[in-house]
Amino acid sequence: MIPLLEQTLAELRDWFVAHGLPGYRAGQVWKWLLQKRAASFDEMTDLPAELRQQLHEQFQIWTTHVAEHRTAGDGTEKLLLELHDGERVECVLLRDDKQHCTVCISTQVGCAMGCAFCATGIEGCVRNLVSGEILEEMLQLQRLLGANERLSHVVVMGMGEPLLNLDALLPALAVATGRDGLNISVRRITISTVGLPAGIGRLARDNCQYHLAVSLHAAADALRNELVPANRGFGVAAILAAADEYFELTGRRVTFEYVLLAGVNDQPEHARQLAHLLRGRPALINVIPYNPVPGLPYRRPLPAATAQFVDILARAGLNVNIRHRKGDRIGAACGQLRRGEGRDAPDCNSGN
Ligand code: SF4
Repeated sequence: MIPLLEQTLAELRDWFVAHGLPGYRAGQVWKWLLQKRAASFDEMTDLPAELRQQLHEQFQIWTTHVAEHRTAGDGTEKLLLELHDGERVECVLLRDDKQHCTVCISTQVGCAMGCAFCATGIEGCVRNLVSGEILEEMLQLQRLLGANERLSHVVVMGMGEPLLNLDALLPALAVATGRDGLNISVRRITISTVGLPAGIGRLARDNCQYHLAVSLHAAADALRNELVPANRGFGVAAILAAADEYFELTGRRVTFEYVLLAGVNDQPEHARQLAHLLRGRPALINVIPYNPVPGLPYRRPLPAATAQFVDILARAGLNVNIRHRKGDRIGAACGQLRRGEGRDAPDCNSGN
C-alpha cells in the first residue's frame, strides 16, 4: 500500500496517468482529503465506484490512529496519535474563534535537545516523523473542526526540534500553504526552534517567509547551557547572528520565547541581560510563566516576579508579551500525554 499523504499532488497525478486514468482525478482526491475533510475514499462521491475501489486497494490514507483525545473547556483539543510503528506523538487544536483555529504539531517522536524543564526531552529522540505523518497531524486535527470553522494558523511547536527535520517538515508545510492544499497563508505558519544556527540559515536562504520563534530562556551562555544543553554547541551569539540574517533576508521579525522558571531565570538581572542582548533588534519577546511538569524540579514564578521581569524589558524599549497558553487540564504540556501524565497539568511549556 502506498501512503497517500507521502505523495505530492504531482506524483499522484503521475500515478493516475501511468494507470491510464485522467490526471484531473488526482486533483479531486486531493481536494476531498485536504479541503473537504474526507476520511475515506468512500466519501469521494464524484469518483466512479470502480476507481474508489481501485484507490482503496492501492493507497492508504491514514497511517496513524487516535490513541487518545482530550478536550478542554476553552475549546482546546489534544490528540495522541499512534504511528504505524507504535510510537506516539501529540498535536493540539486551539480555538480563538471560528475563523482563527490553530494547530500545534510535532516533528519528531521525542526530542534530542534535552531542555531541562521539558517533558518531551526526558527520553531523547526516537525518530523523525516523515512528511506524510506531519501532514496527517494537521488533517486529523482539521477533522475536529465544525463545518463553519476553518484552520487558519499552524505552529510547529510540539514535540521535537523542527530544524533537525526540515526535509520532512518543509514538504508538509508546502501542502499546508498550497492553494490546492490547506491554503493557509505562509505568514500564519510559525516554526519554533531552540535556535540551531545552520537550520535558521537554511530557512533564511530559502526565503520561505515563515514566522520564526527562537526559544531563548536565558541571555547568558552559562545559564542557557544548563537549561538548553544544545546551546553548548554554538552559543547565544551565533543564534542572534542567524536570527539577524533571517530578518535581513526575509524581512520577518523574529520572536524570542522565554519560559520563566522561578528562582532560575526570572530575576531582574536576567531581564537586564536579555534587554541588553536584544536592544535595537526588531524583535518580539514572549514571556511564558512555567507550568510545573511532574518529576522536574522547576516552579512557576510568582506573578510579581513575572510583572517585574516584563517591566524591565518594556522600559528598555522592547516589544514584550506575557503568554498564557490554552489547554488547561488536558495535559497539554508538550510530551506529557505521551508519557501518560498531565491530566491536571496546565499548558505547554516548551516554547518550542
Ligand atoms: S523544549 Fe522543545 S527543543 Fe527542548 S526538549 Fe522540549 S521539545 Fe525538545
